[in-house]
Amino acid sequence: MIPVNTPLLDGNEREYLLECIDSGWISNEGPFVARFEQAFAETVGRKHGVACANGSGALDIAVAAAGIGPGDEVIMPTFTIISPAASVVRAGGVPVLVDSDPVTWNMNLGQIEAKISPRTKAILVVHLYGLPVDMDPLLEIAERHGLIVIEDAAEMHGQTYRGQPCGSFGLMSTFSFYPNKHITCGEGGMVVTDDDDVAEHCRRLRNLCFQPGRRFVHEELGWNYRMTNMQAAIGLAQLERLDAHVQRKRAMGTAYQTALSDTANIQLPLATTDYAENIYWVFGIVLGTNIDQDAAGIMQQLANQAIGTRPFFWPIHEQPVFLNQNLFTNESYPVAETLARRGFYLPSGLGLSTDDLSEVVTALRGCLPATR
Ligand SMILES: *Cc1c(COP(=O)(O)O)cnc(C)c1O
Repeated sequence: MIPVNTPLLDGNEREYLLECIDSGWISNEGPFVARFEQAFAETVGRKHGVACANGSGALDIAVAAAGIGPGDEVIMPTFTIISPAASVVRAGGVPVLVDSDPVTWNMNLGQIEAKISPRTKAILVVHLYGLPVDMDPLLEIAERHGLIVIEDAAEMHGQTYRGQPCGSFGLMSTFSFYPNKHITCGEGGMVVTDDDDVAEHCRRLRNLCFQPGRRFVHEELGWNYRMTNMQAAIGLAQLERLDAHVQRKRAMGTAYQTALSDTANIQLPLATTDYAENIYWVFGIVLGTNIDQDAAGIMQQLANQAIGTRPFFWPIHEQPVFLNQNLFTNESYPVAETLARRGFYLPSGLGLSTDDLSEVVTALRGCLPATR
C-alpha cells in the first residue's frame, strides 16, 4: 500500500518529546509552546505566534479576533476546505464566495470587487495546494475598501510571495500542523500577527477567555484550543527541518511534473508564476475533458492497485450543511465545480520514496487513455 501521506520525523522530535516526559511538562504551560510560537512567528516574519490545537481552531480564533459577527460578510473562495467557511458561519457571519482561477486553482481575484457590499468586513484568503494567491492586487482591493485581510496559510509553510513569507500578509494569518502539512505536530495550529492587542485577544480566545484577575468570570466566550507541550516539542523539531522539507516537496513535485509532462489528458499544477514557485503541499491533477471517468473513477482504479489518493476540496456552495441553512441557494461557480469533480491528488507526503513515486506514475498512466 502506498498511502496518500507519510510524514517525515527524522529530526529532534524524539529527543524533544523525551524532554517533555522526563521533565513532567506535558501541558500548554510547558516551555516548548512559547519556543515554538516564537520560532515559528520569526520564520514567517511576524511579531506574535499563538499556538493552538489545530488549523481549524486557529481560523475560529482569527475570525473572532477580527470581530466578525452576525451579518458580517467575508469574501473567500468557494473552492477550499470547509474550515474557513465554518468559522465564519459559526460566528454568525456570511461567507461570500468567488470562483477559482482554472490555472492556479486559487481564488479568482477578478470576481472580488463585484462581491463587495456595505456589509463586507473581510477577505479570507486561502492559498491552495502549494501556490500562493497573487497578494498585491488582493491587498490593494482590501485597502481601497477598508477590508480586513485574514490569510489561511495552512498549506504554505516555507512558501513566499515575491520574496515575502506567506503568513506575513494582512491582520492575521493561520497555519495548520496536521500530518500532511510541510511541518506537523500530529495536530496543531497557529495564529500569527504583528498586532499586540490582536495577539493578546487570540491568547484569551484560545484559553476559554479566562481573565487574569478573576479567572472564572468571563466577559467573552472562547474555546479550549490550547496546544500541549508535546505537540509543540514535535513542532519545534519539525520547524528546524522546514527548509529541508520544502526542498524535498519541491523535488517530489518536480519529479511528478517531469514524469507526467507528456500525459496529454491531464492538467498538472502550475510549477511557477512570476511571484512564487510551487511548494507542492500535495501534487494534484485535473482530468481533461477527453477522459470519460471523473476523479472518483480513476481514484478507485488506483485504490485497486493499493495507491492512496484524495479528492480535491468540495466547493463551499455545494456543501449540504450550508444548503440546508439556505446559504448559497442557486449559486454556481463552474470552475470550482469542475475542479471538485475532475481533480484529486497523488501520494505526496514527505516520506514518499522515489520508487513509490515511480510506481504511482506507472499506475496512473495505466488508468488513463493512451496519449494521442
Ligand atoms: C489543513 C487545512 C486547514 C485545517 O487545518 P486542521 O489542522 O486540519 O484543522 C485549514 N485550511 C486549509 C487551507 C488547510 O489545508
